Amino acid sequence: MRILELFKNLAAIPHGSGNTKAISDYCAAFARERGFEVLQDQWNNCLIRLPATQGKEANPIVVLQGHLDMVCEKDAGVSHDFEKDPLDLQIEGDRLFAKGTTLGGDDGVAIAYGLALIEDPSIPHPPMEILFTSDEETGMDGAIGLESTWLKGRILLNLDSEEEGVFITSCAGGGEICARLPLFYEPCTKPVYRISIEGLQGGHSGAEIHRRLGNANIILAKVLAGLSCRLISINGGNKSNAIPRAAEALCTMDSPVDSTALTELLLREYGDREPDLKVIVETATADRQLDEACSKAAIGLLSSLPDGVFEWSTEIEGLVETSSNLGILTTADQQLSLLISTRSMKNAKRDAYQEQLIALLERFGFAAEAGGSYPAWEYKSESTLRPIVAEIYRQHYQKEPAFIALHAGLECGLLSEKMPGLDAVSFGPDIKEIHTPRETLSLASFQRTFEFLKAILAKL
Ligand SMILES: [Zn+2]
Repeated sequence: MRILELFKNLAAIPHGSGNTKAISDYCAAFARERGFEVLQDQWNNCLIRLPATQGKEANPIVVLQGHLDMVCEKDAGVSHDFEKDPLDLQIEGDRLFAKGTTLGGDDGVAIAYGLALIEDPSIPHPPMEILFTSDEETGMDGAIGLESTWLKGRILLNLDSEEEGVFITSCAGGGEICARLPLFYEPCTKPVYRISIEGLQGGHSGAEIHRRLGNANIILAKVLAGLSCRLISINGGNKSNAIPRAAEALCTMDSPVDSTALTELLLREYGDREPDLKVIVETATADRQLDEACSKAAIGLLSSLPDGVFEWSTEIEGLVETSSNLGILTTADQQLSLLISTRSMKNAKRDAYQEQLIALLERFGFAAEAGGSYPAWEYKSESTLRPIVAEIYRQHYQKEPAFIALHAGLECGLLSEKMPGLDAVSFGPDIKEIHTPRETLSLASFQRTFEFLKAILAKL
């Protein structure tokens, strides 16, 4: 299986996010050796222009795109060095995985498909721009930096999806709000307690926000708001795009609260989706507490901050339109800092929601600013690409394809800004548990999806 050989070659080159020069150069050399025009830039994006095969010269240009970088995760105790070591690929039956680490099937499969098209002149296709972007996983820096004049095509096949037969046709845009409250302290006047929230499932703040999972930061703030306490510190979460699983606060109170009763109370609200939720109350020590105004402002804001699903789509049932996640909460250096990630399927709605959150933060004395925003890939009602994809899918699979919207980010949002009038779908073979050391690619699906891709190109 040639695409597997190509994938193995890529897996031998370390290519974690931020470390994409070598793999970008490898792809560039691969194309140049075969006589194709190649563009590279300072972000290590790589664009290869593939002239049409015979008879298709006049057809519209098709952009085939995936990202070069992979998420580097390994099992505890594994000594793999992602800067130097090749991945240790293993095959068991239909399953391809890397021993002890992420596989980088996300998005190495796209690169392997691209290289396979480059090297095989017998595959019919229209004029193509094969685009490999860098650092998608850590903020889409490659797609952000990409020179928009590079791309002449307005039809995009994005190969960064992980379920065969499911075609993504729009995705959320997002941004971050960073806010800070200056803190003032006074000596403790009452006993000190540590209140912790534990046992939550956590999850991706985009792909899993519709599950209405508990956010430990928010739950803890609601607990504190119900107590007569003075806050000392509050911390929880470590990534803006992950729903926090645990959080803890130090506070002073007259007497301890009953953690079992608190847990039971919270389980009434969250029990159906967070059965392991637990509140822990312990004695602790500290020599200073926040002054009354700071404590009230912090608890007041955190307990009233909208979080999770803000609005459901009125067009697509079950799709979250706008959401946010209070991902990180830190008390340090005389200030309370928080980082909120926001997402929306509509750019205008994300902006409006961010303004609303910032107004609320400012009302409680926080200094807040929005940044890191990236655009949504909004649904395009007129598409010539989707019916072709659907027709070929039916021919190949004898069933109906699923076209879906995704409440998470794909580079298609950024690319749609650079490619006005973009007509795009995102798809890919079955890959399970991406971004974890259990990431596994189905080899049969890898091959079938390539055959399907070739059939689409033959039709375009
Ligand atoms: Zn990806």
